[in-house]
Order: sequence, then C-alpha cells, then structure tokens
Amino acid sequence: MKFATKAIHAGQPADPATGATIVPIYQTSTFTQEEIGRHKGYEYSRTGNPTRAALEQCLAALDDGLFGLAFASGSAATAATLSILRPGDHVVANDDLYGGTYRYFERVAKLTGVSFTYVNGQEPAEFARAIHEQTRLVWVETPTNPLLQLVDIEAVAGLCRSGGLLLAVDNTFGTPFFQKPLALGADIVVYSTTKYIGGHSDVIGGAVVVNKAALCDQIKFYQNAAGGVPGPLDAWLTLRGIKTLAVRMPRHEQNALETARFLQQHPQVAAVHYPGLPSHPQHDLARRQMTGFGGMVTFQIRGGRPQANAFVKTLRLFSFAESLGGVESLACHPATMTHASFAPEERQRRGITEGTIRLSVGIEDVHDIITDIDQALRAAN
Ligand SMILES: *Cc1c(COP(=O)(O)O)cnc(C)c1O
Repeated sequence: MKFATKAIHAGQPADPATGATIVPIYQTSTFTQEEIGRHKGYEYSRTGNPTRAALEQCLAALDDGLFGLAFASGSAATAATLSILRPGDHVVANDDLYGGTYRYFERVAKLTGVSFTYVNGQEPAEFARAIHEQTRLVWVETPTNPLLQLVDIEAVAGLCRSGGLLLAVDNTFGTPFFQKPLALGADIVVYSTTKYIGGHSDVIGGAVVVNKAALCDQIKFYQNAAGGVPGPLDAWLTLRGIKTLAVRMPRHEQNALETARFLQQHPQVAAVHYPGLPSHPQHDLARRQMTGFGGMVTFQIRGGRPQANAFVKTLRLFSFAESLGGVESLACHPATMTHASFAPEERQRRGITEGTIRLSVGIEDVHDIITDIDQALRAAN
C-alpha cells in the first residue's frame, strides 16, 4: 500500500466483533477473561487497548517501520526513548531542540546520571567530535524548532552505526509524509502526534516507531511500567486525523512556500528560515533527505520585542498560540513561549532573538494567510 492508503487503512480492518467500518473507541479499562490464562489479547488498557493498537499499527506503517508505540504526549515518547539509557550513559544532541525536549534532558534525565553534549547539528563532524566511550545515543531533531535547520540523517546514522550507537530522530516537523528516518538509517523515530499527525489541534499525543524487536520490547516495557499512554478517545482522534495527513501536508507545504517567498521580499523582514527556499543554507540537503519542506516558516522581524509584539497583536486570521501542525495558522514567539525554558544567553547563542517569529502555516486559502501577515507587518512598522 502507498502512503495515502496506509493513512486510511493500516491497522484498521473492519471491527471483528461488529463489522464497524471505523475502529471503535474501546472506552474500557479492563477486559473480561474466559478462564485463567485465556483472553482475547487484551487484559488492561494501560498495557494494551484495541483503539490504541490500531493507532500503533498505523503509525508503524506510515514510517515503513515494524513497531509503533503510542504515548500520552510527545514528551512522554521522549521520556520513553531515554528510558533505554543507564546512569553513566552519554547522549549527543543537536542544539536547536524543541524547548521541552531540552528541559527534559537537562532537568529530568540528567538527574538519573545521563549526560548530554549539544552540538551544531548542521555539521555532522561535530557529532563525531562529541561522541566518546560513554556515548550510547545520538538524538537529532530535523528540521529543527524553531530555526528550521537540518541535520544530515544519513551522515549521522553512518557515524552511529560505526560506533555501535543508537540514533533517535524527532520527526515531528518532517512528518512521515515528507521524511522517513528509518530508511535513512535511524533506529528510533519520535513524534509529537499533537502536531501534524493529529493535525487538528484537538488532542495531545506522542509516538515512537522502531524496526528492532528488542528495542521495541525495551520501550514497550517502559510504556507499560510508567503508564504514559493515550486514552482510547485520544488514540481515536489521532487515528482520525491521520486519515487526511497525505492531503493536508502538500497544502501546508504549498502555503508555507508562498508565505516564505512573500516574507523574503518584505522590507520589514530581516531573515526567513524555510528549507524550501533556495536561499536556505541546507536547501540541497532538504531536497535530498525530504520529499517536501513542511509547513513551518520562521522569520526575523526588523526591530525587537516591540515590533514582534505589534505583529502578533495585529494578526487576525493567525492565532497567537503555542503548538503547530494544525489545519489553522498559528504564530508563536519562541523566546517567550516555546523556548522560554532556555537561559537567555543559550537562546542568543542559538540565534533565537526577541524578533524571531515562528509561523505554523495552516491550510486556509493562501491569499488570506498572506493578506493577514501583510497587514500585521504594516502595524509593526
Ligand atoms: C511539541 C513537540 C514535542 C513535544 O510534544 P508534546 O506532545 O507537546 O509533549 C517534541 N518535539 C517537537 C519537535 C515538538 O514540536
């Protein structure tokens, strides 16, 4: 099956009990067993639930992977991935990370005796330099949040393979529609399904997809033991969102590209970060490892916080809100919102300033999107 077909059908045959065409919301905590040691595959919904199982199979299929695991949030999926580490283990990650991932690494995982080194992910050689004897995992987010920098997955996967390390890729921005990290050599794909995969800004969720059974067993053990699972309704909403993923993503991309082009020629815009622009320093890599460039556009408004604030205040169609990947357009101010957990000097070093504005370009009519940005930029002059 091709991607668009899998998005609608993978893991979702008609319900064996009733013939329901759509996977039912199995809103139950427990399952009645026939006798000691005999049941239909489900015992208790933390361990397994049929609605969640359908989602997990669908997620695995979208990444051409073997095993999918669904979590209550992307953050829970991150925690589950790091649960394979032991005290003394070392992780190398690219430095332009989702703020919550950085917070989890620095303020939770570190307390368990795991150490971290952050490198400029645009340079595969920097990963090689940071890897040492204790390194067990390389964590990569690409494209990054919020600066849309890329990491060469294949190059870093090569380093990991030769060093016997695992490579995890947060593919939330790329989505399985545009980027397949497992095929490029990654061992673990991590998602916040809250974003494009769910796609409608109405449910929080996360996922892990792997190809190795032993790795799946380890993460699944943690999933059941720590219990950060999505409920049946959340799993169902995510599954429903996925059905249109292949329709939504090309539209997000087309609107984002037109938005990026508009911003690029605007006198009040100092810089535009979008991998689909030929001016993006890693445009060639984007063309090589992705089949599209996604729906996120970040730009630097001329001036600083006053101009950024005037811009976001004046937007009418765009909501000024955290999150991304829904059908509606959102604008966010990373320095005070998604990346507030970074120390100011860390933010500066990473290139996130008071004038940095991140747009999640929705699938509305692109004329309305650009008209809104135009009038808000005028107000910010
Ligand atoms: C949102 C996000 C996360 C965290 O996911 P939640 O569902 O909010 O817990 C992780 N990585 C990236 C890239 C994200 O955008």
